[in-house]
Amino acid sequence: MIVYGTNWSNKKIIPTREICPICGVMHSVSLIYQYEYAHIYGISLFPIKKDIRGYCQACEEGINYQSIKTNTTQHSVRYPILSFVGLILIVLAITVFASYIYIDKKQTRELSIQCINTPEVGDIYEVKFSEKEYGLMRISDIKGDSILMQLGEYVTDRITGLKELKNGEYKDRFYDETFSYTKDELFSNLEQEVIIRVNRKTQ
Ligand SMILES: [Zn+2]
Repeated sequence: MIVYGTNWSNKKIIPTREICPICGVMHSVSLIYQYEYAHIYGISLFPIKKDIRGYCQACEEGINYQSIKTNTTQHSVRYPILSFVGLILIVLAITVFASYIYIDKKQTRELSIQCINTPEVGDIYEVKFSEKEYGLMRISDIKGDSILMQLGEYVTDRITGLKELKNGEYKDRFYDETFSYTKDELFSNLEQEVIIRVNRKTQ
């Protein structure tokens, strides 16, 4: 099976009420309409071009399409909506994907704000230390306005590596040394996207 390429649609025969300019028989002229479309796995992405020919059923001669001018003909030879189905599906998929990303980002942010507002010992912060350095920080203690955090022992060079750090075998490896932060400092880091996400263990 050809994965992608172009195809021609089936021929559509559209009768008109025209008089044949060659033999003069009334209502004998039909249009033969066909369009070429780009496809993937046989599903039409979008139409490329039309091919319209006039044809007389009485004298069986071909007739120049441009010479046939009726409302029906102009109307009937539009591309069918189905010929755009692939394109429509692609746009739809992109829209769904983009809104999913957007909603996910919004939820992550809201949860992170909530966690910073009511910090708890054990909260895990996903942090971007530099362009190619991502790691974890963990709340070890809270003393008044000071939130004490430990630095994770391991870093990764990609944001996608954080998942492994969080769930992998070294997820509980943090240095003993602590750093003190205020809520304002944490919020400011969240704002600047230094803090990517805050995770809290749900009971
Ligand atoms: Zn004719």
